[in-house]
Amino acid sequence: MPAFAVILKRKELILMRHILRFLGFEHRSRHVKEYFFAENMKAAIYMSAVIIVLEAAMIIRRALIIVSRETYDKMPSYFMKYYLDPLLLIITASVMLAFSVRFMKGITRNKRIGTAMLLFFTFICLYFGIKVSVGDYRSGEQILTLMTMELFAVCLLNWQPFISIMILTASYLYMYHRMNGLIAPNTGGEGVTTAMKINLFTMWISMIMVCISNYNNTRSQAIKDERLENMNAYLSKLSLTDDLTGMHNMNYFHAEAKKVLDGTVKEPDEPVFLFMDIENFKSYNEKYGFHKGTELLKELAVLIEDIFNGSLTARYSDDHFVVLTSLESYRDKVKKLAKIVHDMQGDVQLSLKCGAYCPVKEDRDPDLACDRARFACNSIKKHYRETVRMYDEKLQSQFRQKQYIVNNIDLAIQSGYIKVYYQPVICVTDGCICGLEALARWEDPEYGLLPPSAFIDILEEYRQIYKLDKCIIEQVCRDHCAAAGRGMEFPPVSINLSRLDFELCDIVGFLCDMTGRYNISRNKLDIEITESALTNKQSQLQRSLADLRRNGFSIWLDDFGSGYSSLNVLKDFHFDVLKIDMKFLAGLGTNEKAGTILSTIITLTKQLNMYSLTEGVEHEEQFNYLSSLGCTKAQGYFFSKPVTLDDLNELISSGKLRLPAAAASQNA
Ligand code: C2E
Ligand code: MG
Ligand code: MG
Repeated sequence: MPAFAVILKRKELILMRHILRFLGFEHRSRHVKEYFFAENMKAAIYMSAVIIVLEAAMIIRRALIIVSRETYDKMPSYFMKYYLDPLLLIITASVMLAFSVRFMKGITRNKRIGTAMLLFFTFICLYFGIKVSVGDYRSGEQILTLMTMELFAVCLLNWQPFISIMILTASYLYMYHRMNGLIAPNTGGEGVTTAMKINLFTMWISMIMVCISNYNNTRSQAIKDERLENMNAYLSKLSLTDDLTGMHNMNYFHAEAKKVLDGTVKEPDEPVFLFMDIENFKSYNEKYGFHKGTELLKELAVLIEDIFNGSLTARYSDDHFVVLTSLESYRDKVKKLAKIVHDMQGDVQLSLKCGAYCPVKEDRDPDLACDRARFACNSIKKHYRETVRMYDEKLQSQFRQKQYIVNNIDLAIQSGYIKVYYQPVICVTDGCICGLEALARWEDPEYGLLPPSAFIDILEEYRQIYKLDKCIIEQVCRDHCAAAGRGMEFPPVSINLSRLDFELCDIVGFLCDMTGRYNISRNKLDIEITESALTNKQSQLQRSLADLRRNGFSIWLDDFGSGYSSLNVLKDFHFDVLKIDMKFLAGLGTNEKAGTILSTIITLTKQLNMYSLTEGVEHEEQFNYLSSLGCTKAQGYFFSKPVTLDDLNELISSGKLRLPAAAASQNA
């Protein structure tokens, strides 16, 4: 029983809450209140305009009657009787009209005055309506003026229902009271007739219904509008905020920086664009995990916003941040930040690098300004002592070269400026060539012979690298085919691919097409993937490598030992050949451990069923040492630098390099 009572109580409570909400007793958000107010202001414009026109027409009509009857002497009494009320109404409506127009135009925003005026206007309208209707009733006419004014004042204007009910009840009671004191025109008796009572009651109740319905319609519109506005605000915030750090993103930065470059915004006085990069962040991520890396980026974002407080700051991408600040104090701020970053490091040495660019007058493009600051930043990577680098003329000419590379890669490929140089790979046991590595060179008419260091990174940054790699693949296939055409044996060639090739094009499909078109056995092409490309576990890349292997290509791991997670890479992927980074061989003389590590890696390759290839052999002693360790293959300047195919043939025919006996006799 008590439970039933509780349920009943709860139901009653819910019903009560609904009724109260229906009557307008509820908390209304600021937006909803403003929506109602603006709707009322709009309605007030129509209402006051209509009232001004109607009342003006009444005044003119009366004036014409006076003129036609020539009753000028009665003017003073006529004024009190016929003109005072309409004039009062016109004045009130004009003030209301002026206020609501100013409000809609945004000239005034004072809602208190507005509400007071609406109430006053409503009162005047109803007073006028009752006064005229009482007069009409006395002379046997309908009481339509009251109805019209009520329609205006409580139906067109949107009051909370309980206010409308109060206004309507008060006005009808007053009307009833006034009519009750008169002789009913149709019966001749005193007081309001029963029929009229019923009429008044019906009018009262239907007006209340209209008010409630109007209010609730407008209310749901207001709520819908609010939700939409909130959603828009959320979306626009989202489009300007960096998801990870919560600071501004590049959309925002670009738009604001553009205003500075266009001169729309005068601050800062002498602007400077900064591009900041955390050196070794990748290693930090690898060592401490993705989550810690993200935490670090968030911390950095807060620090940057704090140190460059008042300046435009944003996250560019990854561990890169941009700032638009004033030239005056930027160096000290960057140094302060660099010190904090330095103190943050654990086992991984983190350092902040910053490039700065001062825009000149003609600069209008924030992207270009950021690019230049970034270029300056990249120029001091691995320069341990330097933290800040200003973009200057020297960098300007290098930057031009970078743009030249990006803009001319297509032309260079079409015009044959991209050439394959071959560097022999030597079999350690017999000293003969057992393979060639294809290395790209750009023979440019303007800049001369460009090494890969001048264009590979740039082409990767601008996601154009696949064009170059495809070009190299085709040239290698063509060289193979030409050799086969002359009945000669061509050693297998290893080709360097970028991680991006697998993203930007169907490189596996292309390799299959080319080997098919030039009729080359797939075991004549080996694919080199550099270790740094494989540091994150990427299932897509893993699938592509499996695809390569399925299609008959061997996969070589290049630059093994150059990163932090070399052993992880071996755990996650399978390779046919391990190319040991040249730093181990170079370190032999100076670092005692280098020899031990080298020998351990070579033993490991055997255990994992792989061949070992050591890069960077420059001296005979190094070669002999590798031979004593049981390394399978060797490559380096000691045998030959990368050379053109003609030069390679020359080296072979002069006897400086040797092909294996079988190939040599076939080629002879
Ligand atoms: P990598 O694949 O590790 O190539 C070996 C680099 O070491 C070559 O530099 C080669 O000239 C150099 N080298 C070989 N032996 C010695 C030596 O005894 N001592 C010294 N100090 N260096 C030696 P290169 O040709 O400048 O290429 C640099 C890098 O550019 C390559 O490193 C490779 O990662 C990339 N690369 C070259 N060609 C291509 C290409 O066609 N496509 C892609 N995606 N990358 C390429
Ligand atoms: Mg290589
Ligand atoms: Mg290498």
